[in-house]
Amino acid sequence: MVATVKGDVHDIGKNIVGVVLGCNGYEIIDLGVMVPADKILHAAKEHGAQAIGLSGLITPSLEEMSHIAAEMQRQGFDLPLLIGGATTSRAHTAIKIAPNYKGPVVYVPDASRAVGVVTKLLSLDMRDGYVEEVAADYEKVRGQHASKKGVALVSLEAARANRAKLEFAGSAAPVKPKQLGVTVLEKLDLAELEKYIDWSPFFQTWDLAGSYPKILDDAVVGEAARNVFSDGQAMLQQLIVEKWISANAVFGLFPANAVGDDIVFFSDETRGKPLMTWHGLRQQQERPTGKPHQCLSDFVAPGVSSGTGDTARCAADFAGAFAVTAGLGIERKLAEFEAQHDDYRAIMLKSLADRLAEAAAEWLHERVRKDYWGYASGESMDSAALIAEKYRGIRPAPGYPACPDHTSKGGLFRLLDAPKNAGMNLTESYAMMPAASVAGFYLAHPEARYFAVGKIGRDQLQDWAQRAGFSVAEAEKWLAPLL
Ligand code: SAH
Repeated sequence: MVATVKGDVHDIGKNIVGVVLGCNGYEIIDLGVMVPADKILHAAKEHGAQAIGLSGLITPSLEEMSHIAAEMQRQGFDLPLLIGGATTSRAHTAIKIAPNYKGPVVYVPDASRAVGVVTKLLSLDMRDGYVEEVAADYEKVRGQHASKKGVALVSLEAARANRAKLEFAGSAAPVKPKQLGVTVLEKLDLAELEKYIDWSPFFQTWDLAGSYPKILDDAVVGEAARNVFSDGQAMLQQLIVEKWISANAVFGLFPANAVGDDIVFFSDETRGKPLMTWHGLRQQQERPTGKPHQCLSDFVAPGVSSGTGDTARCAADFAGAFAVTAGLGIERKLAEFEAQHDDYRAIMLKSLADRLAEAAAEWLHERVRKDYWGYASGESMDSAALIAEKYRGIRPAPGYPACPDHTSKGGLFRLLDAPKNAGMNLTESYAMMPAASVAGFYLAHPEARYFAVGKIGRDQLQDWAQRAGFSVAEAEKWLAPLL
């Protein structure tokens, strides 16, 4: 039995696991996406499942998986529990999930491993030995984790004092966007978006390691890569011509200033009325001498009235936000494939929609840099440079390492009215629906770069909770991977 956990919507990997196991003679009961613990456990009993596989893409799903493991223990289950999906890991499985459940718990890194794992778990001869081997391995992981637990952190106060102090003058002076406010772009031209597709992640989706186009000639996976690529190309052309799906975008460019670790977006240039505050997180792990403790708010100028005392660096700055989706209308075609029991085409369509959503984000960012904001009107780049994001400015995405807090998508979606303007919504874990969606913020400072916040201290957890309006317990839940 397989399911994507409550609050999460991504299921490509889970579906590939289902197909692979199905091809090897196992019967799969797939409960779909956003499945609550009760429903999974009830269905497992009802169907007499021999194993349960949980999948999730976003970090809040990690907590949900720990919860399901605890529920399995409470309800007296002894079935093997398999863990998979993009944010899961052997370490997380060993440290946070396995201790909650006495039955076997196994992390499955990709679909190709699923058959081996399930075969061993269901084999009378191999099961006990394998379960012991995995348990011993996870015990070792927990031991290593415990011994290096004391990752050195500095206080929040010290981290803030060591923030990056960028210039907001000269060539780094803020550029006022040509078009302030919210802009909606509907029914994007999919043929235009195709030119912006980064194909490498397409192959990762299919568990094929290597970067495009080299992968097509790879000695080991080349043939498989060529097959899946030509099927993907054929479907892409057909979906463009027959308009199987449509893509929408909404973005906004606003007066904005840093206020401490937050970025405040204003409704107009009087900067009196905050529309939204994005609560940032700052690095607290020890940094090499001369390197700042970074926070995304460092890339935005403090406002004149922010009272930092740092008036030389104050400036009337700007920032943006965007949300794009390429998954509108996808259900109709997926239902058709499902009715034909054509799992391969269903998975292919989802993977192409994901590629088009990322392509739409890249395309839109270029339009914004060159036209709507216009700070890079003379930019000219080939597609390799675009995919390598060699341009000025970044589009940090909530849930990624520089801004690992998923909850800021709530404010972002309200700021842009993404439900009304782009047909996009959020689950209770802040996963985006349709699944083929991308959202983030735009920062334009020439030195803006991605980084990872990493571990944070209790002092920052409490400070952030207070700023963001969460109880400490809620903040612990949302920021669990950082603690
Ligand atoms: N070309 C890729 C783009 C996705 S990954 C694709 O088609 O799949 C790159 C994007 O992830 C960035 O544009 C940014 O939105 C996000 N990102 C990457 N690293 C990040 C970080 N450290 N913090 C925040 N966002 C990040």
